[in-house]
Amino acid sequence: MGVLWLDEIGADDVDAVGGKGASLGELTGADLPVPSGFVVGASAYRSFLESTGIDEELFSVVDVDVEDSAALSDAAERAQELILDAPLPDELRAEIIEAYGELGDDPFVAVRSSATAEDLPDASFAGQQETFLNVTEEDLLERVRECWASLFTRRAIYYRQKQGFDHSIVDIAVVVQRMVDADRSGVMFTSHPSTGDPRMVVESAWGLGEAVVSGSVSPDNYVVDRETGAVEQVTVADKKVMHVKDEETGETVERQVPEDRRERRVLSDDDLAALVELGEAVEDHYGTPQDVEWAMVDGEVHMLQSRPITTIDDESGSASEGALGDMNLDSQGGGAGADADSGDARTSATDGSGAVADTSGGRATDESDGGATDEVLVSGLGASPGKASGAVRVVDQLDELDRVSEGDVIVTEMTTPDMVPAMKRAVGLVTDEGGMTSHAAIVSRELEVPAVVGTGGATSTLEDGQVVTIDGERGAVTEGEADAVEDSGEDDRAATEPAGQPRQPKPMTATEVKVNLSIPEASAARRAAATGADGVGLLRMEHMVISLGKTPERYVEDHGERAFVDELVDGISTVADEFYPRPVRVRTLDAPTDEFRELEGGEDEPEEHNPMLGYRGIRRSLDKPETFRHELAAFRRLYEKGYDNVEIMFPLVNDAEDVLGARREMEAAGIDPEKRSWGAMIETPAAALGVDEMADAGIDFASFGTNDLTQYTLAVDRNNGAVADRFDELHPAVLDLISQTIQTCRDRGVETSICGQAGSKPEMVEFLVDEGITSISANADAVRDVQQRVERVEQRLLLESVR
Ligand code: PEP
Ligand code: MG
Repeated sequence: MGVLWLDEIGADDVDAVGGKGASLGELTGADLPVPSGFVVGASAYRSFLESTGIDEELFSVVDVDVEDSAALSDAAERAQELILDAPLPDELRAEIIEAYGELGDDPFVAVRSSATAEDLPDASFAGQQETFLNVTEEDLLERVRECWASLFTRRAIYYRQKQGFDHSIVDIAVVVQRMVDADRSGVMFTSHPSTGDPRMVVESAWGLGEAVVSGSVSPDNYVVDRETGAVEQVTVADKKVMHVKDEETGETVERQVPEDRRERRVLSDDDLAALVELGEAVEDHYGTPQDVEWAMVDGEVHMLQSRPITTIDDESGSASEGALGDMNLDSQGGGAGADADSGDARTSATDGSGAVADTSGGRATDESDGGATDEVLVSGLGASPGKASGAVRVVDQLDELDRVSEGDVIVTEMTTPDMVPAMKRAVGLVTDEGGMTSHAAIVSRELEVPAVVGTGGATSTLEDGQVVTIDGERGAVTEGEADAVEDSGEDDRAATEPAGQPRQPKPMTATEVKVNLSIPEASAARRAAATGADGVGLLRMEHMVISLGKTPERYVEDHGERAFVDELVDGISTVADEFYPRPVRVRTLDAPTDEFRELEGGEDEPEEHNPMLGYRGIRRSLDKPETFRHELAAFRRLYEKGYDNVEIMFPLVNDAEDVLGARREMEAAGIDPEKRSWGAMIETPAAALGVDEMADAGIDFASFGTNDLTQYTLAVDRNNGAVADRFDELHPAVLDLISQTIQTCRDRGVETSICGQAGSKPEMVEFLVDEGITSISANADAVRDVQQRVERVEQRLLLESVR
């Protein structure tokens, strides 16, 4: 029996109907909205090969050296010819036509390959075989045969050989299903494709789903938190084309998207909610995250395909634990950050399925590391993480793939799976079109080749032979070559383990434990990152400026504004690179005038009776905003470069008016306060008492600067040794201000943190965890102790709550 109906098939029938057929049968049985249809089973293909006698020659011609492009081409051509020229047995013809008749009134059908080695949990054969849409009875039998032949395309032969599958034991079935004449369609990952978090990533475009899956259009990208239903990210792409059924011929054709729909959002929040519901049902049914192709007609969702996500890193859930002596820890992933500040509707996705090209012990940085400049030549979606440098090879056609040599960066218009052999040789991939879930993106993740897709114009911007560095995590391509940072495994261990002490796993705590950093050097940042901290709670900007030897004003006078901004961008990105995607909270300039006095240009600083009570922090930034504006310009540049892990913190604010002033400057600099994480330090009693109004002004977090909060609460100059014995961060008055602030912030949904020195003190840690602080930032050498202390307090609180 050559034909099986979908409702007779279950997940165990892979051998009979292939992965896709079995999955669609299983979903049909689970009452999910799958279009009706049948499968021409694998046994039909097998008996076709045997009854026509082509099997022997077929399997011998495909036994070639797949790295030899010419031999691979010849083999593919001959194998397909054998299948397409052999006659189809009469009995099978009749059976297929009869089944088609039962589908209804001459319907349009989709004819889809379903190989027995396709879509298995351990290897994604994404897009390796043919699919035909809008097929009618006239072409049906021919299309079935073409599906069989597509088991022997160059890419399929290559992929099978590389993955160790024997050609002769891989069978193919063909699914024939009623067409869904979709007005919108796309793909969705029911959980985040790299971290496995319950965050759905949906890509969608107008018309039939082929455009998204094939990568011929850059789709909209949505990220939805499945637990809360919140739509976290919406990135609306410029969707130039769509695939639709031609009314006259019934064929699938590519059309221009009408101007008014090109940049319009494809999915509403309600549509996304419907997809979440469907995604959850599918994931629940299978018990593992799924990659689902879907289509919508008049708001009704249909499922076209579901397969397990093959790229989720088993370790990713505990990636930060692996931080201990292991620098390949950036695979925690995270959401996709809409890079709206650039005015370019692109997403800088942070999708870490595992560190890739820079596994030597750290992330290569931009300019500071050597030949590379930090100029972003093109940017797009970070579709496969890792960083790599190489010569650009602009490839227009399949034939040109032979031009790609070992170590090149492939630059091409569209992502197609045909590139697999060349991608194996290349160190990276950059495309004009395509989304994070296009097949080539999936495969590039699996091959661990860094990829940036959907750049809009890489093929015209980048030149053949040009050396570039591609950052597949942030989605950026920069000029020149970045040297990999040397392995510092030993240093990393030293940072967390005093000699002679056994290595212990990082305690898992609900309260985040971060680290403070002042010197933005790669080695320091790397050591701090190796503590397993959950991010940087305070990166002081002063040291970046002080190391220049000149006051900001003098530096700008001598070298220009651009050079000053570059310095800040370099310093911050060095740290943000080491921690990516963990957050790095960067504080704008807060140096008292006496610290600047030593610098060139310091003679122009105002003479102050008491600099600690004087011209510093946000009051100076708002009073004379030129330097402040350069700082904000640096943040803006960082966001444009894809550093969506950078947060902005304002020092020494007194009240909401200060916060609003800073916010206005941020907006004027082109930074959207709604999109970026920003907040204020709580360093004066006024700030502690006024945090409610600051919440109204929009802060995302409040961070206790206990060094200043203590000096201003107790009137004890923190720099004055004569009163040092009175400097007590645990003074009840200080604790009371902190306690009230945490309470208000909890009520208002504002995160709280501490980044003053007292965050490293055990008593303070206990107090803060008891009070319900969100995070504690400590010195690098105290991070491990703080983690353990936090863990103990949290366990005590849990015990108390159940006793
Ligand atoms: C503080 O005041 O606690 C703080 C962290 O800032 P700084 O020490 O730089 O004043
Ligand atoms: Mg301070």
